[in-house]
Amino acid sequence: MADASPADTRVLMVESSEKIASQAWHVQRAHFYLASMRRFADELRVDGFEVVYRRSNSFRVALREHRAEFPDDAVVATEPNSWRARLLLDELGVETVASNQFLCHHRDFTNWVNSRKSAGYKTFKMEDFYRWQRQRLGYLMDGDQPVTGRWNYDAENREPPPKDGHDRWASPLVDPLDDLDHDVLAALPDTCTGQSPTGVWATSREGALRRLRHFVDHHLAVFGPHEDAMLSANWHLAHSLLSPYLNNGLLLPSEVCDAVQAAYDTGAVDIASAEGFVRQIIGWREYVWGLYWMSMPEYRDENALGADMPLPPLFTGGDTKMNCMSCTLRGIDDYAWAHHIQRLMVLGNFALTAGVEPRAFLDWMSRVFVDAAEWVMVPNVVGMALYADGGRMATKPYASGGAYIDKMSDYCKGCSYDRKKRVGDDACPFTTLYWDFLLRHADQFVRNPRIATQVRAAQKLADADAVRERATAVRVALRAGTL
Ligand code: SF4
Repeated sequence: MADASPADTRVLMVESSEKIASQAWHVQRAHFYLASMRRFADELRVDGFEVVYRRSNSFRVALREHRAEFPDDAVVATEPNSWRARLLLDELGVETVASNQFLCHHRDFTNWVNSRKSAGYKTFKMEDFYRWQRQRLGYLMDGDQPVTGRWNYDAENREPPPKDGHDRWASPLVDPLDDLDHDVLAALPDTCTGQSPTGVWATSREGALRRLRHFVDHHLAVFGPHEDAMLSANWHLAHSLLSPYLNNGLLLPSEVCDAVQAAYDTGAVDIASAEGFVRQIIGWREYVWGLYWMSMPEYRDENALGADMPLPPLFTGGDTKMNCMSCTLRGIDDYAWAHHIQRLMVLGNFALTAGVEPRAFLDWMSRVFVDAAEWVMVPNVVGMALYADGGRMATKPYASGGAYIDKMSDYCKGCSYDRKKRVGDDACPFTTLYWDFLLRHADQFVRNPRIATQVRAAQKLADADAVRERATAVRVALRAGTL
């Protein structure tokens, strides 16, 4: 509540031990949320607020205690970001006010979808929503038209990694841990996974603002071209690393987009990078947010392709000879982070084509990423990555073999597997599983114009039986942790 005043507002904050112990969280994720909360409480006190910081079993218990101690207080919260939290607040009779963490309220998103349907459109694509947002919010606009006459620079922003100069991108800011950080870490359960925090992730408003400035000054101008590239020796490239702050409220989407607009206006960055970044914030982020609220609660449990493999051990610390998976999982272990293509085309693609049960994969993704939130993970994992919603979010399954990963990364050069092979002991598991996926789901996708050509190619394979046999061996090795 941005307009709250210390004169008439007492702030209640709750640290729930049940929530902290409910999952084997990545330690950097757990630390990030708890340290951010404790620092925010301190900042509010400095601003003159009385903060009641309760460490309790659950939010429900904490609220009961609070109401008993302050029976005359009206409890008001900003609208929560998850379906379950909203149900809980409704049940507990907590009044809510609109949040400023999103620029399009999910009610307005639903109205936009309905207006599209009323106008005769059968689909409500992200690109159409993004253009509506640009017009409504005015970013990179000249009147109601895009400032350069073009809406989208995606085509310029899909370059593979450069051949050399893999250290060309400025390093992320790092702040030393302080006593508050060490107190938080000491309080975390030993079920937490991953490497301890190194100070890459800020846990204060001031630190988040510095990182926004660092991104705009050092990364934004080169953000676009290689935003889909992956490198084994560089985990951040030109990515903003701002999603944790946008998702926990240390930064607002409006101030991030304002900073990008200002950099474009002064000529510090070109349109391709500015547009590519603004699209992520006011386009994808808000589209996913709206879709989440339109589709819950059923969305979380959908499994349209009937995938039933338990989460393979390589996701939880097991070894793998697949270099792309090994590099991506090592990055997650080190930083609780991977960029969107690593999430979609390495982790998600593998889970999709191997047939990993969506809920198991969703739960894992939600535990290990510093920026994870249910509203972003459910549509991106269940819908986009695993096609478990039957195509509501994506018009085709994002399945690919080793060729895509080879084009967009340097992973395949250091791998035990041969990305060109689909059969044989050294065949790339991605390539094998990709063709097997097309064969297994041919009936479902052969009439989908975006993937029908690939399905028909799979149906004509002379070695289809050998592909199926190799895919079975891959799945056995995957479960055994020997792939
Ligand atoms: Fe990954 Fe296959 Fe390339 Fe190895 S060859 S890095 S498994 S895509």
